[in-house]
Amino acid sequence: MRNRIVLDGAATIFFLTTRKPHQGRVISGYYHVGWYTEGTQGAVNRDYALAADNLHFIDPILASDLPEPLAAICSPQFRTMKPIDVETVASLRRICDERPDRTAEYLGEVERVEAFARARSGYAYPSWGREAGFCWEDAPEYYQTDAELSKVPNSSRNRKWRCRECGYVINSGALLKKCPLCKQMATLAPTEEGA
Ligand SMILES: [Zn+2]
Repeated sequence: MRNRIVLDGAATIFFLTTRKPHQGRVISGYYHVGWYTEGTQGAVNRDYALAADNLHFIDPILASDLPEPLAAICSPQFRTMKPIDVETVASLRRICDERPDRTAEYLGEVERVEAFARARSGYAYPSWGREAGFCWEDAPEYYQTDAELSKVPNSSRNRKWRCRECGYVINSGALLKKCPLCKQMATLAPTEEGA
């Protein structure tokens, strides 16, 4: 998604989710991207880090309650992301901007979920091996700093990845940015590589 946003110059990301059970799809707000830079795996791996210069979360609106054609665009289920045109962006943004900003409540909910995960597993983000939430001081960890970066596959057929720093093998469906054990960035590669 981040790669596509950079290539398309698409600056607004709307968030949709499905409320369960059977409450339908809702739109909950947007980020407006102000900046991007190369991520830890670098542009060679089409990895970018994005930062918002504006964000606005709202009391969720049922997608089916949006005026057409927005209801038809937002209601169907799709995985991960769906690019939309400029007019749709302008309409959705107007609808969000007309509503009270609930960003503070949204961030409070993120902290509540982090605390819940920490109570259950010891980590706010178990798959990252991360005990705390994120703040701006953490951002540079996600920027490309290694000029010698080579191309790393972002999928592993056997879902196994080896860390080149600590040798730890992890199971994951997708490439993680950070080794959960030694916490080094951009050190994981599929185990079948070179085998
Ligand atoms: Zn490691």
